Amino acid sequence: MPLKKSNSAAKKPSDAPAKKAPQPITPVRGMRDILPADFPYWRKMFETAQGLCDAYGFDRIETPVLEDTPLFVRGVGKQTDVVEKEMYSFETPGGDKVSLRPENTAGVCRAYIHHGMLNLPQPVKLWYWGQMFRHDRPQSGRYRQFWQYGCEIIGEEDAVVDAQLALIAWRYLKDLGIESTVRINSIGTPECRLNYRNALVAYFRPKRSRLSEEDKKRLLKNPLRLLDSKDPVVAEMKVEAPQIVDWLDESSKNHFMRVLEYLDEVGVPYQLDPFLVRGLDYYTQTVFELYEATEEEGSQNALGGGGRYDGLMELLGGRPTPAAGFAIGVDRVISRLKASSQNIEPKKVDVFVAQLGEGGRKKALAIFEELREAGMSASENFAKNSIKAQMDIANRLGVKWTLIVGQKEVLDGTVIVRDMDAGTQEIVDARKIVQVLQKKMIQKEQEA
Ligand code: AMP
Repeated sequence: MPLKKSNSAAKKPSDAPAKKAPQPITPVRGMRDILPADFPYWRKMFETAQGLCDAYGFDRIETPVLEDTPLFVRGVGKQTDVVEKEMYSFETPGGDKVSLRPENTAGVCRAYIHHGMLNLPQPVKLWYWGQMFRHDRPQSGRYRQFWQYGCEIIGEEDAVVDAQLALIAWRYLKDLGIESTVRINSIGTPECRLNYRNALVAYFRPKRSRLSEEDKKRLLKNPLRLLDSKDPVVAEMKVEAPQIVDWLDESSKNHFMRVLEYLDEVGVPYQLDPFLVRGLDYYTQTVFELYEATEEEGSQNALGGGGRYDGLMELLGGRPTPAAGFAIGVDRVISRLKASSQNIEPKKVDVFVAQLGEGGRKKALAIFEELREAGMSASENFAKNSIKAQMDIANRLGVKWTLIVGQKEVLDGTVIVRDMDAGTQEIVDARKIVQVLQKKMIQKEQEA
């Protein structure tokens, strides 16, 4: 069929609507990219966590970032800020109500129940590392997507577990070069908390008119959360407020005393914080947070936190199972490490492979593979043509040797080996390059 001649073909280009250049897309508010420059810190944090968890006998667990919303509503608590205001919740096309996890303890407990880990030798010790999501107001140290490293000990009620978890969290920060203090409190059993809650309401109710709208709501719905209020008026009122320690039953008091005795025994520095209650509903008995030792009292910039959550498993439909854990805020610790310009050693590279011309590049590509297979740390920049540019990179990396492969070396079956410290060069048989370098490395080590 002949194509109809279109009128638009006759249009002059100036009549066509101006094409708008597409706007660059920025990250979603509160989300951010983690760039290569930060990765030495991330790597150090992860490897330190892994080493510590191996040493303390924890196994790694990874749970999905997306869970059924009721997991968090039941586990973390409907009236908590995290669930009420900060969850990324949505309905899937299939009609399921799901949420991005705001924390990982509920997910780990769900996995414990789902996989029948109750039948394993108890306690089950698990650690995780992953992203959490909270639709909080973005500000310094607070992101909408952030990472936590956490440890959970499930199936043991003894106070020694609470103390050891606080010890591991403290030790972790210490291994990273951060001196911290554990702020600690006990919130007892749900029964103790109910009595305390009534005492707290009775104390704050006559002062209600001076509270902000937000805190009035808290007084009504979740009075313990008033203790976390950042309002200076509440901070002033708090001084005289009842303290939960006076509402603990004998067994809870005893449990808490033992946690403190264990911490004394291992020399973990702690401060009693009578108003520390933590934001999530599932805590029972011990609660703690870690702050940098130099941090002012009353600061809200915790590097990590944790506690005991004996009732959570039952809330999630499992058998009653005592458990405790902690989570460290990875992003915050990294900011802290960067701020103190703590030197993270750059990756050490021993050899740089430089090339000249197409033949040299081909041979250098193969030599690089040989070095890598022999386990040597080598670097290259095959995209560069100039030897000078490649030598500059080799110098910047601080390598001990640079190999140079040009057209002549390809024809001769040789490689030039340049000792970067001495500034000397020698020509070696290309087939023996790995052995020659290995020998040189041993020599350098012996000289050092
Ligand atoms: P939480 O259990 O809520 O106290 O969280 C444990 C740790 O995770 C905190 O002490 C913080 O270091 C970190 N954290 C919590 N929320 C955020 C956030 N929105 N952005 C960055 N880090 C966070």
